[in-house]
Amino acid sequence: MPGDRPPVSAEIPEAELDRLRRDLVARREALWEEIRADLLQNARAEFHDRIRAAATLDDIHDVAPGGGSLLGIFEARKARLEEITAALHRIEAGTFGRCTDCGRRIEADDLRDRPWEPRCAGCRAKAAEAEGGEGEDAG
Ligand SMILES: [Zn+2]
Repeated sequence: MPGDRPPVSAEIPEAELDRLRRDLVARREALWEEIRADLLQNARAEFHDRIRAAATLDDIHDVAPGGGSLLGIFEARKARLEEITAALHRIEAGTFGRCTDCGRRIEADDLRDRPWEPRCAGCRAKAAEAEGGEGEDAG
């Protein structure tokens, strides 16, 4: 699509944006594989075909109706998966790299380390404090 690209995307070099996009897609694939593997281990055999065919989290919800105990198995991964999906949407929308809270640019290093993060380091720290010190130790 030629012409009027939104200003935010333009601030990130095309090659870098492309690299980040591929990184996010690869992470998403890996997470899906882990989620599927976990579910296949824990779900009843009758659900296995549907789990293998699942392409969205809604499909997974469908596989574990009611209980949600299976969903608890991958709660953390699910959250990350949603963050990654949202980040890919922001790339498409041209808002990627801009803090969703304060609107400032996110540091390039930060984007490289945690491309799924919607917020700048400052807002992230604030949010972690607000959550009462139960911060994530993810790496
Ligand atoms: Zn911010």
